[in-house]
Amino acid sequence: METIAKSCVIIKAPVHTKEEAIRFAGKRLVDAGYIASPYIDSLMKREAVSNTFLGSGVAIPHGMIEDRHHVFHTGLAVIQVPEGVVWQEGKLARLIVAIAAQSDEHIAILRRLTRLMQKEGAIEELVTCTDAERIIAALTDTPYMPPAATEPWPADAKMEIMLDYPNGLHARPASQWVETAKRHACEIRILKEGERADAKTLTGLLGLGISFGQKIVLAARGEGAETAVRDLAETVARLSAEEIADAERARVAAEQARANAPVWKPAAATRMQLGVAASPGLAIGKIVRHESSALVVEDKFTTTMEEGSALEAALSKVAAELTEMEAETRRRLGAGEAAIFAAQRELLADPSLMRAAIGDIMRGHGAAWSWKKVLDARVDQQRQLPDPLLAARALDLKDAGERVIATMLGIERKAIVLREPSVLIAEDLTPSDTLQLDMRYVVGLAISSGGPTSHTAILARTLGLPALVAAGPSLLQIEYGTEAVIDGTAGCLYLGCTTADIETARAAIRAQALRIEAMRADRYQRATTSDGHTVSVFANVTNAKQAADAIEAGAEGVGLMRTEFLFLERESAPSEDEQYAVYRDTIAALGGRPLIIRALDIGGDKQVSYLDLPHEENPFLGVRGARLLLSRPELLSTQLRALYRAAEHGPVSIMFPMVTELAEVAALRAECEQVRAALKAPVVPLGIMVEVPAVAVMADRFAQKVDFFSVGTNDLTQYVLAMDRQHPQLAAQADPLNPAVLALIGITAKAANAAGIHVGVCGGLAGDPLGARILIGLGVNDLSMSTQDVAIVKTIIRSETLSNMQQLAQRALAAGSAAEVRAL
Ligand code: PEP
Ligand code: MG
Repeated sequence: METIAKSCVIIKAPVHTKEEAIRFAGKRLVDAGYIASPYIDSLMKREAVSNTFLGSGVAIPHGMIEDRHHVFHTGLAVIQVPEGVVWQEGKLARLIVAIAAQSDEHIAILRRLTRLMQKEGAIEELVTCTDAERIIAALTDTPYMPPAATEPWPADAKMEIMLDYPNGLHARPASQWVETAKRHACEIRILKEGERADAKTLTGLLGLGISFGQKIVLAARGEGAETAVRDLAETVARLSAEEIADAERARVAAEQARANAPVWKPAAATRMQLGVAASPGLAIGKIVRHESSALVVEDKFTTTMEEGSALEAALSKVAAELTEMEAETRRRLGAGEAAIFAAQRELLADPSLMRAAIGDIMRGHGAAWSWKKVLDARVDQQRQLPDPLLAARALDLKDAGERVIATMLGIERKAIVLREPSVLIAEDLTPSDTLQLDMRYVVGLAISSGGPTSHTAILARTLGLPALVAAGPSLLQIEYGTEAVIDGTAGCLYLGCTTADIETARAAIRAQALRIEAMRADRYQRATTSDGHTVSVFANVTNAKQAADAIEAGAEGVGLMRTEFLFLERESAPSEDEQYAVYRDTIAALGGRPLIIRALDIGGDKQVSYLDLPHEENPFLGVRGARLLLSRPELLSTQLRALYRAAEHGPVSIMFPMVTELAEVAALRAECEQVRAALKAPVVPLGIMVEVPAVAVMADRFAQKVDFFSVGTNDLTQYVLAMDRQHPQLAAQADPLNPAVLALIGITAKAANAAGIHVGVCGGLAGDPLGARILIGLGVNDLSMSTQDVAIVKTIIRSETLSNMQQLAQRALAAGSAAEVRAL
């Protein structure tokens, strides 16, 4: 083991007892991807059976041999506690070195530790030092380079904080720090152990390499310094809950995937390349090495003007491309994945990069050459960061920066050509490389560097590709064309398997595929329970393309077409004709199947600048949905005209969001009728979303006034539980399975059934396997969900009886908490 992750070395750890110290160290190992969390218990178990106190204030907790399968990768966590915690027989441990070892790779560290213990004052120095690098250097036998002292920076306001983001400060949160800092005119710096960076530049911030547990100072000078520091501290703290929740989600997802994945092990000995599990699944393919071709740039100079403009043009072109990739990725994969490209755009926007390149251009160098020079220097600087998580982000800068060079040189960046099922090995893949992979042939990814939270790992999980990371440089020695079995769940690549083993691997993959295929094969069958009750399963979409994909995936129509997306990210509202074309195309894509189009639901979490909406302290409780539509007659009538014109082409229902009072229904219906009559358009069903608790409570009266209900469990939950649906800290508690939410859905369904109108659910609960069953049991007639959930929910409904689901619903209503409901 040559390196120790900086995120695993904690100076002045906030622990007071032996157990706290062991669990704290274990958590660092889990977050860094070295072990699965059960190994923490194994560390505790060891304490009961043997003495892990080495002497001279050093303890070496390590797990039990029988639990080694929880170790993905050998690693260490070093916890410095200057005041010490009581270890064995009253002895104080001040340097706790927790070891997760797969074999005996940690022996060298032990040898160094014992050597240090024999050297007078050496351990004392490590126990009292303030720089994690000093400990890493001592334990890895490398020279220690103290951080270069910089000039003091006189500040008007400052605040010391400890960063508690489990993955350190990486590009996503850092870009939000930059955004906050840029809102203030004064100068803002982040100070870290004698180094400092401008809080308004992303590369500067990332260059500091701030890892978990690090103490930093937020400092500002000039007018408004106090406010700026406070504002920045608030951003840092707000993101903390999100970062911790993200890391926890990734960990739980990885552990669940590991538990569900097919178990396969070769019977005969094979060569094995170990890495860190990054995306679960098993696949067989030929090794293909991906190398990013080095860009050759000649230093060609024309005039300062021309070179300067060429660079500027390339930068804006790439920024626009990244915005497009962000939008495309958000559509294809989701907001989390799309954020990668927003962060890349922010990296390129760093004015210091541009300044340095312009400096070289002024000295008579070509634009591409000058840009490459600054880029290479910055990428190198980032790569040198001791924290592997942060160093891995150098790739983002390289990727975005090389795009600029390629644009200036007019080079098309090509994807690799593949012809057979392939396991791609690479030092790392850039986010754009990963997106360009030919998914027909790539069956797995093995990366020599990076970590389980790298962008490659995130994308692999979203794309459903087995992947492992951090496999070390020997991975890249594997010969091209070698047959390999990749197990992304265990983080293992098997080479030279026997024919018999390849056969068993194929069987394991087939069994898994069969389960998925069986579900897919039946996706067009109706969702009829085994006692003959049929429920409609619809999808939530935003445009015609998604509607077509939903039908292909087994949806029987669209239960919610959100129209906000037509209005977002543009300069002015879409015209009637533009809206009409989108609605008409979606109707066409559905070929006569039902389509519920929801009128504009702006406000709350969705804002558009051109509507000039006044600032609201509590936008979720403000003028949103139906309230906004009724206060902006031109917005409502334009949309209604487009909707009624489209209604000529197929079955459409119109639905209104965020309705609260009966009077709103009357006003909306009157407006609809006026538009319809003027256009001589067909009558269409008019319904409402049930997402304000008041409507659920008065559902019997609303049921007399509308043609259908659709319960929006996302908003209903936030309003019933008084928990912001976007609040990272409350995310786990804001559970729509809370019995209070279910009770209101029950009242709504009962009122609808009594009045003989349709009741559906289009919030997230409809696509949850347990939620769907409870909703049907409560009397809901149809469910509308994300396309990817359709086939599985249909399969679940078919395997159930209505009476079972009714009993389940009654037990859920009687439960005391969402957790009790989930336990059913
Ligand atoms: C809901 O609130 O459950 C819903 C479906 O609407 P949205 O998520 O668009 O607010
Ligand atoms: Mg809603």
